[in-house]
Amino acid sequence: MEQIRMVDLQTQYKRLQADIDTAMQSVLQSTAFINGPAVKTFQQNLADYLHVKHVIPCANGTDALQIALMALRLKPGDEVITSTFTFIATVEVIALLQLKPVLVDVDPHTFTLIPAEVEKAITPKTKAIIPVHLFGQGADMNRISQIAKDHQLFIVEDSAQSIGANYICDGESSKLGTLGNVGCTSFFPSKNLGCFGDGGACFTNNDELAAQMRMIVNHGSQKKYYHKVIGVNSRLDTIQAAVLDVKLKHLDDFNKRRQRAADYYDAAFKNHNELTTPHRQEDSDHIFHQYTLKVANGKRDALQAHLKEAGIPSMVYYPVPLHQQEAFAEFASTDQSFSNAEQLSREVLSLPMHTELTEIQLTHITDTILSFFE
Ligand SMILES: *Cc1c(COP(=O)(O)O)cnc(C)c1O
Repeated sequence: MEQIRMVDLQTQYKRLQADIDTAMQSVLQSTAFINGPAVKTFQQNLADYLHVKHVIPCANGTDALQIALMALRLKPGDEVITSTFTFIATVEVIALLQLKPVLVDVDPHTFTLIPAEVEKAITPKTKAIIPVHLFGQGADMNRISQIAKDHQLFIVEDSAQSIGANYICDGESSKLGTLGNVGCTSFFPSKNLGCFGDGGACFTNNDELAAQMRMIVNHGSQKKYYHKVIGVNSRLDTIQAAVLDVKLKHLDDFNKRRQRAADYYDAAFKNHNELTTPHRQEDSDHIFHQYTLKVANGKRDALQAHLKEAGIPSMVYYPVPLHQQEAFAEFASTDQSFSNAEQLSREVLSLPMHTELTEIQLTHITDTILSFFE
């Protein structure tokens, strides 16, 4: 049996090597390393795939979130509501822009924002909501979109973990990341659509926001050496765009392979009295960026140690909710409960999840887990 990895980029690369190597070689031959033709091609192909008007590539997913917020022209002190149970990047960029992150608790089944809590957190200073489509499943965009409409708030979707997933809104299916004002994603190697280094993108159907974001990624400039707004330097390398353009053609297949592995896990742990398998919503695909179990009765760490002994990796995403992070202590509201996120941080365990898991590996993983409870 091949070694079991949390994410198996090696085997995936070997499977696609001929096409990826050709694409990379062609960039090397051209030496157009910055803003080469592959960047435009990928940008257009991704826009077509997502059915969105504009894709603005950038250097990573964290930048994508920052660029989106900069384009909204918020003022220092404006409040942005987001989840306390997510990767740090989401809240980092809010604070860096001198905006105020307002953290709210998540649903214990979907791990995404609770719309009622979002509504409770709204003040006259609230300007935007950042729903995070955590682990590959959509936040409740139907209700969050309604709340944003009622209170005239922007929505910036953090789609770093949900690229390619469909969501049903108003009876119509759209890709996650294209429902709000701006969607942001990451092409970090382990993401569902990953490159061979860092990369990211913003998406929008709004022409004005698109123009603004295109300026911001390029030092606030449309015409070289003329700067209209304060921007940043955030580009997707041509080599990364070439890799991504090859991989984009496989994205639906990648996501299906992840779903098949998740189905296998689900079947093995069905009705287990100490394990809860990931909840699957009706209005959203789950593309399993992570397959995350909840382990009851305080047994999570012991189960993880048991897996480690058998040579099976697993991870805790995330061990500390953001309101308990030292760096964000000043934003942790004391009159609010984060009990769901706190409990999740003690119970969640993410299993190996990628496009190359074999049935032999999956059987070994599930047998090892089940044997722990015997
Ligand atoms: C990965 C990730 C990001 C940041 O992406 P980078 O490309 O690593 O900067 C942001 N939000 C979430 C939820 C992520 O998983």
